[in-house]
Amino acid sequence: MHYHLKCTLCGAEYDSNAVRYVCPKHGDDGILDTILDYAKIAKETNPRKISDSRDFSIWRYAPLLPLDDARKSAPPLHVGWTPLYRSTTLGAQLGLPNLYFKDDGRNPTASFKDRASAVVVAKARELGVEIITTASTGNAGAALAGLAAAAKMPAVIFVPQTAPQAKIAQLLIFGARVILVKGTYDQAFDLCLQVSKSFGWYCRNTAYNPYTVEGKKTASFEICEQLAPSPVATGEGRSGDWKAPDSIFVSVGDGNVISGLWKGLRDLLALNWIEKMPKLLGIQAEGSAACYNAWKAGTEKITVVNAQTVADSISADLPRDGVRAVRAVRETGGAYLTVTDDEILAAIPELARGEAIFCEPAASAAYAGLKKAVKQGLVRSDETVVCMLTGNGLKDIASAMKVAGAGTVIEPTLEAVKQLNLK
Ligand SMILES: *Cc1c(COP(=O)(O)O)cnc(C)c1O
Repeated sequence: MHYHLKCTLCGAEYDSNAVRYVCPKHGDDGILDTILDYAKIAKETNPRKISDSRDFSIWRYAPLLPLDDARKSAPPLHVGWTPLYRSTTLGAQLGLPNLYFKDDGRNPTASFKDRASAVVVAKARELGVEIITTASTGNAGAALAGLAAAAKMPAVIFVPQTAPQAKIAQLLIFGARVILVKGTYDQAFDLCLQVSKSFGWYCRNTAYNPYTVEGKKTASFEICEQLAPSPVATGEGRSGDWKAPDSIFVSVGDGNVISGLWKGLRDLLALNWIEKMPKLLGIQAEGSAACYNAWKAGTEKITVVNAQTVADSISADLPRDGVRAVRAVRETGGAYLTVTDDEILAAIPELARGEAIFCEPAASAAYAGLKKAVKQGLVRSDETVVCMLTGNGLKDIASAMKVAGAGTVIEPTLEAVKQLNLK
């Protein structure tokens, strides 16, 4: 085995065959980090070899993933290698000439969560389990439903009854068994855990299953690889010169995405494939800011909030990966910021009109946070900044329509068009 598991709370280490989910010493809170054998990886592969790969998906990083044979277990659905766009408009407005947007809404079920579900489904296949389950605010479930459909594996998804219709439609269309819980995401999470324990189903729950982070870290690999000087475009550099940005902005709910980005960067730094650790900036909705609160108070103790925000995908009373999410920001010298629902919604048309990327609220929140950080002087103008856009706008049309404006209704005549004075 080329990896093992280590408790984020007490540091106890475990064989990955002995422990499936969390550290046995801490109930359900002892999240496990995956510790890779970096010496072995360095012997097998290197950035140049990976950059020469024709596999434009997360599986180009298979040697850095905790799977026995990704070629056999990877579900056949294209995940990852999403575009990293250099900003065309908003960067200039903010005085950031080196601003990039990573559009993870381009994944098969239209959110970042596909990265995690792909790796967890691959793991489930290697373990030979029959049924896979998760609780979700919507996107993790949609991702699991899609990846499970690709793997021909039955999935049971627990979501709050109030999840946006588009996300529920995704769950149903992919053929998952959909359980609509009359309660919050947090209640659905605890219920799914109980069900998994009593029925023996494989559980993907965020910050319970150790491998979601291992899927999510691939976004950091992509960022550093995509920022490499392109020999084709510039005639400079070599395909193996990966480059870390100065800072990465990302929205935070449960804190598993930011933990995953951090893990990927720690892997690359340990392998010496990048030269520095970027700052991680976590953006939370003002009404769901438990990680922000803990960071601000200088503690790792996460206090429950009564989460309320338009950005359903980052609404969490008790962030399940809060401890790592606070550490990710503190240990990289980043910061947490909060944004209001109005700021989150206003960022949707700004991104769509300025960069042609349509985001759901939980994704636009990262950009709203970046704007605030610039105003507060937290970003230098010469920094290379990456703003992670985690989910597609079609996920939540009701929110988009609040800020989209309205079309013009007319009679079907040329005269009616002329009267609009379009020229
Ligand atoms: C899940 C999600 C997030 C936040 O991820 P956490 O791990 O909950 O912090 C952000 N944006 C979108 C679109 C998501 O689906």
